[in-house]
Amino acid sequence: MLQKLKLLAIFLIMGITVYAQDQYLTAKSEDLEKTYISQKTYKVKDFPQKFNVDKPKNIILLIGDGMGVSQVFAGLTANKGRLFLENCKYIGFSKTSSGDNYITDSGAGGTALSTGVKTYNGAIGVDMNKNPVRTILQEASEKGLATGLVSSSAITHATPASFISHQASRSSYEDIATDFLKTDIDVFIGGGLDHFAKREDGRNLVEELKNKGYQVETEINKIKKVKKGKLAGLAAEVHTGRMSERGDILPVATETAINILSNNKNGFFLMVEGSQIDWGGHAGSTIYVVEDMLDFDQVIGKALEFAAKDKETLVIVTSDHETGGMAITGGSFEDGVVKAAFPTGGHTAVMVPIFSYGPGAEEFIGIMENTEVHAKMKKLLLGN
Ligand code: MG
Ligand code: ZN
Repeated sequence: MLQKLKLLAIFLIMGITVYAQDQYLTAKSEDLEKTYISQKTYKVKDFPQKFNVDKPKNIILLIGDGMGVSQVFAGLTANKGRLFLENCKYIGFSKTSSGDNYITDSGAGGTALSTGVKTYNGAIGVDMNKNPVRTILQEASEKGLATGLVSSSAITHATPASFISHQASRSSYEDIATDFLKTDIDVFIGGGLDHFAKREDGRNLVEELKNKGYQVETEINKIKKVKKGKLAGLAAEVHTGRMSERGDILPVATETAINILSNNKNGFFLMVEGSQIDWGGHAGSTIYVVEDMLDFDQVIGKALEFAAKDKETLVIVTSDHETGGMAITGGSFEDGVVKAAFPTGGHTAVMVPIFSYGPGAEEFIGIMENTEVHAKMKKLLLGN
C-alpha cells in the first residue's frame, strides 16, 4: 500500500513538472512571437524627387498583402525609425471592400487593382458573373510594353494570379498556371513549380514554356543571371518559405525583373507582391509581420533606386487589405523593438495606404476605391 502511494506520488510530481514545463514553453514561445527585437538594421537612402516627364513610361506596382498602417509602422520601428518607403511623398488611402463582402480576400482585392472591377471574394480576374476582365498587365502587353510578376508566394497564388489569369476560383492553381501560357508575359518569378510541372492533366508546362522561348530556372542564383529575353523563375515547389528559409530572394528577383523589363523601349508594367506580410497577420506573429515588412521595404528600395535613375518610372506601394487588425501596443525606436496584438486571425475592412513616387504620383492622394487605383494607373500608363 505504502509502495503504491509512493509510486502514485512520484507519478503526480512527474506529471506536474512535465505539465508546468510545457506551459512555460508555450507561453514563452507565444510571447516571443508577439515581440520583435531588432538584430540588425539597414541603411535607408534618400532619393531625388525630380523626374523627366509628366506621365510615366513604366509602372512598378508593389503590393504588400495584408499591409495596413500598423504593419508599415511596425517595420519603421523595427528598422529604428527609417524605411525606404518614406521616399514616397504622395500618400492616399484605398477602400478595399469587395463586390460581395465588406471584408475582401486577396482574389477580389487583387482583381480590383488589376482590372478596376469589384468582384466576389475568391475570384481571379473575373467579374461578379464570372466573365473574364482584361487586366492592366494584359493591356500593357497588347500595347507593346514589357510585363512582369514577382511574388514571395507561389506565382499562381491569388495576388499575382489576378493580374494574368481568369478563373472562377483562386484555388484552381493548375488552371491558373495554364493561363500564364495564354499571355505574352516577359518575366515571372516566384514559387509554384508544382502547378506547372506536377499536374493532374499530365501536361508539363515547364516544357511548354521552354517551347515558347522562356528561360526556365528554379534557383535564384541562376534566375538572377538572366539579363534579357523571357524568364520563368520557379524557385519553389509551392511557396518560397519564411525569410529564414528564402533569404533575400524577393528583392533579388525584383532587381532581375526590372533589369530585363527595362530593355523594352516602349516601357513596362511590373507587379511585385510581398505575399507573406498577410501570413504573419494570420498567424498573429509580430516577428513574422516585421520580417516580411522589412523584406518588402528592401523591394521598395530596389524599385526606387531604378526609378530615381530612370526618372520616367512611377512606383506605387499599396495593399489589397489589412490582416489581423494589428495593433502596436509597445516598442522602441532606439532598440528596434515592436510589440503588437492581433484581435483577429482574418482580414479586416479598414482602408489601406497608397504611397507613390515618380511622375503621376500626385494622382494617388486622398481616399479612393481600390478600383480607382487601377483607373489611374491605366490612364497614366496606357492613356485611356
Ligand atoms: Mg497574396
Ligand atoms: Zn490573407
